[in-house]
Formats: sequence, C-alpha cells, structure tokens
Amino acid sequence: MTVTQYRNEPFTDFTVEANKTAMLQALEKVKQELGQSYPLIINGEKITTDRKSTSINPGMVDQVVGVVAQADRELADKAIMTAYTKFNEWRLVDPAVRAGYLFKASAIMRRQKFEYCAWLVYEVGKNWAEADADVAEAIDFLEFYAREMLRLNEPQPLVPYEGEDNRLTYIPLGVGVVIPPWNFPLAIMAGMTTAAIVSGNTVVLKPASTSPIIAAKFVQLMEEVGLPAGVLNFLPGSGSEIGDYIVDHPKTRFVSFTGSRDVGLRINERIAKTAEGQIWIKRLVAEMGGKDAVVVDASANVEEAATAIVASAFGFQGQKCSAGSRAIIHRDVYDEVLQRVVLKTNALRVGLPENNDPIGPVIDDKAYNKILEYIEIGKSEGVLVAGGDKAAGNGYYIQPTVIADVAENARIMLEEIFGPVLAVCKADSFEHAIDIFNNTEYGLTGAVFSSDREHLEYARQHMHCGNLYFNRKCTGALVGVHPFGGFNMSGTDSKAGGRDYLLLFTQAKLVSEKL
Ligand code: GLU
Repeated sequence: MTVTQYRNEPFTDFTVEANKTAMLQALEKVKQELGQSYPLIINGEKITTDRKSTSINPGMVDQVVGVVAQADRELADKAIMTAYTKFNEWRLVDPAVRAGYLFKASAIMRRQKFEYCAWLVYEVGKNWAEADADVAEAIDFLEFYAREMLRLNEPQPLVPYEGEDNRLTYIPLGVGVVIPPWNFPLAIMAGMTTAAIVSGNTVVLKPASTSPIIAAKFVQLMEEVGLPAGVLNFLPGSGSEIGDYIVDHPKTRFVSFTGSRDVGLRINERIAKTAEGQIWIKRLVAEMGGKDAVVVDASANVEEAATAIVASAFGFQGQKCSAGSRAIIHRDVYDEVLQRVVLKTNALRVGLPENNDPIGPVIDDKAYNKILEYIEIGKSEGVLVAGGDKAAGNGYYIQPTVIADVAENARIMLEEIFGPVLAVCKADSFEHAIDIFNNTEYGLTGAVFSSDREHLEYARQHMHCGNLYFNRKCTGALVGVHPFGGFNMSGTDSKAGGRDYLLLFTQAKLVSEKL
C-alpha cells in the first residue's frame, strides 16, 4: 500500500457559490431522509426492538431526525459476547488491512462531505462551518489513525543484544466499550471507534442518546467499506438500562469514554471492581469536561483577544469541552476588551442552523433548563452585559450571554455550564490572571493573549492545561497538529489525534529468541 503523507482535511469555504449550492442541495436531500428507523447491529445482524428512541432536531423540535432501536441487557450481553468471539479473528488481521478500511471510509466520507454536514445540522444544531469542521476532523481521525497503526506495526527500536532476535509488537486489548459524546457526534465518535478497531480490538459502540442517527450513518459506512461483521457492534440504548451493564461486563477489556465529569468518574469507579470471571484490569480512556479560559494580558492586541474570546465562548453555543467559558482580563485593558466582547456578542444572530445563523440551539431540554438556571446564578454573581435570556424559535435557543465583573470563586467561574455563557473576571496582574486560570478542578484548554515574551514563557510553565494556545482561540484543535486532552478532572490526558493515542488501545509484547 502506498500511503501519502498525512495532511489535515481543508475546511470548506461557504462563501464560494458552488459550495453554498452543494450544501443547500445536501440539506434538501437529507431532509427527505429524515424520520427513518435504524436498528441495532450485532454481528452484522440488524435487530429492531419494541423500545425505540426518537432523535429530534433541537432547532425545530417537531422535526424527527430518526428513530432508533433501544437495546436491553440481553442484547447488550449478545453484543459484548459477539465482540469477544470476533476478537480472536480480528486481532490476527494484518494491521495494514485494518488500516485499509479506514482509508476507504475516509475517501467515501470526503465524497459525501456535504451530506454528513447536513446530518450534523439537523441532529445536533451545528451551523455550516461547525458541521464542516466536525466532518473534516472525522476524516482526519480516519487518515491519522490508519497511518499511526502502520507506524506502530513497523519494527520498534530496541537495544541490540548479541545472540538474540528481539522484537516488540503492539497487540490489541480485546473488547472495547465506546461511549462517545453528542457534541462532536461524527468526529469524536468515529475517532474513538476507529482508533480501537484499527488497533485490532472489537467494539461495542453505544452512541450518545441525542445523536444516534449520525452514529448509525457512520456504522453504515463501515459496513459499506466491508468491515467484517462483529468487529463494530452498534448498541444504542439508555444509559440507565445498559450503560453500567456493558461497563461492568467481565468480557469488557477497556472503556473509551468522552462526556461529562460525573459519568466519567462513575465509569472509573465501576471498572475498578473486578467482575466474576474477569481476568484483566480494565483500562479507561476518558475525556471529560473543562472550564477553559482566555487570559488577556495588558500587552495584548485587544481586538484579536476580543474576537477569540467570543469565538471560544460561543462556537457551537459553547457546547465544547474546549469552550472558553471564562475570560480573565488584566485590569489595564479590561474595559476596552469587555466593550468589544459585548459588541461582538450582540452581533451574533440566533436562529435555525439550517439557515446557517451563527448561534443555534442547545442540545435538549435538560441542557436548556440547566443553562438558563446558570444564567440566573450568573446574574447574581456579576453584571449581565449581553444576552441573559432564552431566544425566539421552535427549539432550545438561548441568547449568547456575557456576565462581567465576576469574582474568581463564583460558581460560574468554577462549574462547567456547557452552553453560551461567558464569565468575565478582572485580574490585578498577569500572575494573578494565571492563578485565576488555574483555580479550577479541570485542565483542558487555555489561551493567552500577550505580546510580552516573558509573560508567554511564564504561562507556558504555569498554566496547567493539556492544550494551551498563545494569541489564538482555545477551541479547534487539529488532528495531528494539536493532540487533544487535558489534566485533572478533564480526563486521562489521552491526547486524541496524537502519536500516543493508539498505545492506549494496545499492549506491548516482547518476543526474544536465542539465536
Ligand atoms: N477538540 C475540540 C476542540 O479543540 C473539542 C472537543 C470537545 O469539545 O469534546 O475544540
């Protein structure tokens, strides 16, 4: 197989008329396909169940995106046992052949890019650029992990030893339970799933309950490229019915999870218990929350800082674990930056994602109510300077909201809101700003705007987060370029899209032969 050098998938420029037309056509085409039913898939067998779950468009709540079957424990057991049996074949498949499925899937996804974007627009309420970035990242993960497996399959460097042939190989673990999030329902779901598969593991994929249709589309794609039945089993179902069950199952070898802190911690506790018949220590790869911030120094370019604060806080309505939900601004430039942030926030139109308004809905009624509650808390903790209320529309629309003059220990400075709410805090000095930045139990992303080299070096050493950016926004990590993952309650720092990632789904085996 000749493999070209890895390159990030370029983003689509929707100001180009041809791209705009293609997107409008894809939206129209996918609209005709809304409302269909999707089965579970276990060992290639499509299974419908009596219990179903309906996925709706959060921006137009009476539009049904699709209806998906719901597994019970019996089916969950069947999925795990299928993956367990299949592992014995799949683990022996040549890694180059395994990588081939990812390359093929990537090529098809690239050709159908606009349609995948359209599904994201309808199912989770992304605007066009956010949807396009999600699809581009999914393509990147497929391309990157396929190459990573080829690299790991090469002879690994060992110290030569006279009279011995020594070889180290990375072998897979076993059955992986993959529990992805709804906020990057294509990219992160596909990345988590294919990293496990290309490494030689078999997977039980339990999609997020608010984005099962995009996951079903991806599973169809893997079927189309000929991935053998049983390698990827599709198991939508409610967390309370099957979540603990598949995590606790004795044949589960590892869990790959991206989602909230609370669920991640729960999984962490549960996998620590050894089930009857279990003969390994389960492994957890977890990406959890964030309370990320943009720090603005007195020496910063205030216009660029304000633009980045708004982009980091409100991209996809702040529903990213990388979202800059705090802005920590040096007192000397505080008023000026804040004023620009408010102007830029007020300029953001809220509306239907299909129409490509910059701000769309939040994911569901639970999120909607929680975010509105946090806005009320915020109003009592600071000064409301933009937004502050629900917004019009037949969906879960909330105005992008800015709360200024918030104290560093206020709840909206500490707790993850996962919505379009920005807390702004004044710092007395650059060092003080960094202390405020670190005053959180998370440690995922951060950004600093400064033109002072010493301050940047200070930030490099002292800001405790997995992804730190200088003079740019704190969202939008690129696969291979910015390996992604954080510290403390943000997870296991697994660095998705980096060279260490596949090691999490493998174990190293050394064979030494006396010559
Ligand atoms: N990787 C994404 C970014 O850098 C965030 C992923 C997430 O929100 O889970 O913006």
